[in-house]
Amino acid sequence: MPDMRLFHSKNTKLEVDLRKYLFARGFRYRLHDKRLKGTPDLVFPKYKAVIFVHGCFWHAHENCSHASIPKTNTEFWLTKFAKNKERDELALNWLESHGWRVLTLWECAIRRPEQFCFDELLDFVECWLVGEARSCEVSGENKLPMLILVG
Ligand SMILES: [Zn+2]
Repeated sequence: MPDMRLFHSKNTKLEVDLRKYLFARGFRYRLHDKRLKGTPDLVFPKYKAVIFVHGCFWHAHENCSHASIPKTNTEFWLTKFAKNKERDELALNWLESHGWRVLTLWECAIRRPEQFCFDELLDFVECWLVGEARSCEVSGENKLPMLILVG
């Protein structure tokens, strides 16, 4: 059984650190806004942007070493993961069709310090927010993605 504290979907360390930093830099946001599909972790109305901080386990991050399938109750977990993934996809489509940009930060992005440090990640998030870049996701398996502008 995985350690549930690591995978709790709200107020993870990454999310809290991210909030503190962005607030200190003058960004203002709403938390867990239920009016938006998928209840994004951070909502930035000024930039028409939202951020999800995804636990790799709960959101069944593909090809990620943090996203194992439990050996017991396997059927249950597979069903649950499939549902979570479907919900994530629906939320992404809904948000984009309503004019929101979506940044998905996978938890593994900060657990792989050899790829990039947290400061780099934060700089990236800031650029993404203010730069009108398209939706994208950051995971620990890859380098930081190129920012592609909307339109
Ligand atoms: Zn991952």
